[in-house]
Amino acid sequence: MLLKRYRKEFCRPPNPEAQHLRCVAYLNENIGNVLPYLNTVLKGHQYIKNPPSLTLKFNGKLITLYSQEIGINIVKDEDEADKILEWLKQEINDTWKKRREIKPSFEVAQKPDILNILKLLPKTNCQECGQPTCMVFAILISEGEKDPENCPQLDMQNKITLQNYLKQFINR
Ligand code: SF4
Repeated sequence: MLLKRYRKEFCRPPNPEAQHLRCVAYLNENIGNVLPYLNTVLKGHQYIKNPPSLTLKFNGKLITLYSQEIGINIVKDEDEADKILEWLKQEINDTWKKRREIKPSFEVAQKPDILNILKLLPKTNCQECGQPTCMVFAILISEGEKDPENCPQLDMQNKITLQNYLKQFINR
């Protein structure tokens, strides 16, 4: 077993109105060597070789694994954090055990182009999505933090076009 134990901490994001928590798990063991294999198995959103880190998209959350830390950007409570961390621990240990059968991936995922996204948005800057402008919303889509569904003004045809455009990127 590669990863045996971790200790988790929670903090509130800087926005005072935010309802969610951020979670960081400090790992007892170093998992840096498993990250390229996990990049293959879990279709990582972004892999960085040095220092090693792997970002995953999971149910609308961004999870970043470093050699001795795991950060989760949004959790509603400790119970949800525990479920995600235990799932990750299992994936890390299973992947490490089977690593000789897995081709590691050092691929850095390309991100969707912000202007390609923006041209499909209504560009009214109405703020109904909670963002100050359509450009900010386009950046968040490109980063994988928002989806076309989060723009109530987007018409069906452009929504489908945008969803099809985003599908070609890893783990979207
Ligand atoms: S809801 Fe849509 S149209 Fe309005 S600001 Fe957000 S992205 Fe732009």
